Order: sequence, then structure tokens, then C-alpha cells
Amino acid sequence: MKKLVCAGEILVEIMAERIGQSFLEPGPLVGPFPSGAPAIFIGQAAALGQPAGLIGAIGEDDFGQLNIDRLRALGADVSAITSHRGHATGTAFVTYLADASRHFVFNISNSAAGLIAIDDAARHLLADADHFHVMGSSLFSDKSAEVVLAAIAAVRGRGGTVSFDPNIRREIMQDAGMREALEGVLAQTDIFLPSGNELLLFSSAGDEQGAIVELLGRGISCIVLKRGAAGAIYHDRQSLVAMPGFAVDEVDPTGAGDCFGAAFVSFWLRGAAPAEALRIANACGALAVTRKGPMEGIHRLADVEAFIARAGTGA
Ligand code: ATP
Ligand code: MG
Repeated sequence: MKKLVCAGEILVEIMAERIGQSFLEPGPLVGPFPSGAPAIFIGQAAALGQPAGLIGAIGEDDFGQLNIDRLRALGADVSAITSHRGHATGTAFVTYLADASRHFVFNISNSAAGLIAIDDAARHLLADADHFHVMGSSLFSDKSAEVVLAAIAAVRGRGGTVSFDPNIRREIMQDAGMREALEGVLAQTDIFLPSGNELLLFSSAGDEQGAIVELLGRGISCIVLKRGAAGAIYHDRQSLVAMPGFAVDEVDPTGAGDCFGAAFVSFWLRGAAPAEALRIANACGALAVTRKGPMEGIHRLADVEAFIARAGTGA
């Protein structure tokens, strides 16, 4: 089976208990939950049985250990996660507002996560990697962006493939350096996994169809547009496959896109037809939102298949 690698921020997430709870006054919190988009992605891929490893940095503290323990339990390769004495593991405090949007207090670039680097362990992990996945959120610092670009070069240098989930908000794109980094990654992407208006951010076309034609024309093999509860649409130069989402009660949307992406990429690497990869990915995304906490909804392949069987075709 092909080996998948990702690099980037490892965090714990601590959530406000009440909807609309302010961080400007004391209130009840729940967590710590293991988190960080690259960690969620690698955890889900490993849970599906894909050989998968993560390059990242944690502090020598309980929050770091919590992440290592979870990733290891899911079957991920944690050999390229380095632990730094005297630095704290990254954190994200999140509160959900009444309009369903999220408000964050992040400590990422100034935490151990900011110390990410290509060291011997990372080089060893990349030496037999077949695929590298980029999370746009992991371009958060020059250092982290350097790691991502070096990993892409290493994997592509040995004939491997690259997937890219922009995972960004419009505000970040205003930053000139960030835009350049994202465009640089896109130029080397085989599988592009945008959601919402992210598709339009990378194209001069003003509409979805125009953007898809333009991006496929630039050499991207396939574009998978994530559409929340509505499911996802796959596009390549020959075909389009639309797949509705599975009906579930959404408890916490965090992590859905990362679990979806991990499943789609894992099945693409196995040579699955787009419809099969989409079905597994939609199921992983749906299961992800049924639990509070970004990695709590990660399920193993047998459980994902049982969920699909119970749901019928998902249509
Ligand atoms: P994230 O908030 O994690 O960044 P995203 O914006 O990248 O998510 P979404 O489109 O929100 O991606 O979710 C990814 C996939 O998860 C969807 O394509 C769908 O398959 C599944 N999904 C998300 N929300 C729901 C839901 N409420 N019900 C069923 N499936 C869902
Ligand atoms: Mg996302």
C-alpha cells in the first residue's frame, strides 16, 4: 500500500461549553482534544489502514503526549514528530457563536508547533513516501511553509503525488507571502480539495464551472469540492461525479473536511473509482461531525463500511 505523509501543526483544542460563550470572561471549557488539521488527516488515513506518518513538533508536556498517544493508537507513524523541552504544545481555544461561526484564540507559531523542521527523522519518513498532503493552514509560518515545500519536492522527486486542502479563510489570502505560497503549492498539486468559496480564490473565473475548467487546464488531475451536509462533487477532465452527503445529526463540524480528505486521498491511492472514494470520504466526513472534538469522530474502515451499509447508498 502507498505511504502518505503530511506535515504541520499539532495542537490541542479546548472548547467553550456553551454556544455564544465569550472568551472575555471566565466560563466552562471542555478538552483538551487532540487536534491540528494535519494530525486529524493522518489519524483518519491511518484508521482506514493507510500507511501514514506526520512531520510535526510538540512540547514535552501532557498536551503533546495526548496527541502522540492518539495518533499511535490510530496506527499512524509518529517517528517524525519531535518533542521540544522548554516549549509548550500548540493550543486552539474555540467558541461557537450563535450564527454557527467559530471564534478562536490560537497559540501556534509561538508554540512548539512553530519549531517544525526537516530533521533526520523527517527525511527518513519521506524517503519512502508515495504521497504528500498539504494543509493550507500549515503555511502559517515561513518555517512551516519551508517544511511543506521541501516535503513536496522530496515526494515529487521520487515520482510521488500531492494533494492540497487550502483550509483557509479569505483574510489570510490578503497576505502577499501566503498567496504566493498557496499558488506555489497548487502548481504542484494532483488532487485539489477546496470547500465553499476556496475554489474561486485560486482562479480568475468568477464562477465555479469556469474555475474548475481553468484549474484542470493548469494540470491538476482532479478537483473534489466539499459541500458540507450536501456531500461532494468530483471533477476531472473526463468526468463529473456528484455524491450526496449522509444524513447525520451534526454535533461539531470541526475536522469534517480533514477526515473527508484523508479518506478520499487514501482510496484514490488505492486506485478506487471516484464514486467509491467519494462514498467513503462522505461517510468519514459525516461520522466526524457526530462527535464533539476534531478527532473524536475518526472511525476505522470496518466501522465506516458498517455505517455506509446501514445508511443504504447514502443517496
Ligand atoms: P472543515 O470545517 O473541517 O474545514 P470543510 O469546509 O473543509 O470542513 P465540509 O464541506 O464542511 O469541509 O465537510 C467535508 C465533508 O464532510 C463534506 O463534503 C461531507 O461529506 C461531510 N460533512 C460535513 N458536514 C456534514 C453534515 N452536517 N452532515 C453530513 N456530512 C457532512
Ligand atoms: Mg476545511
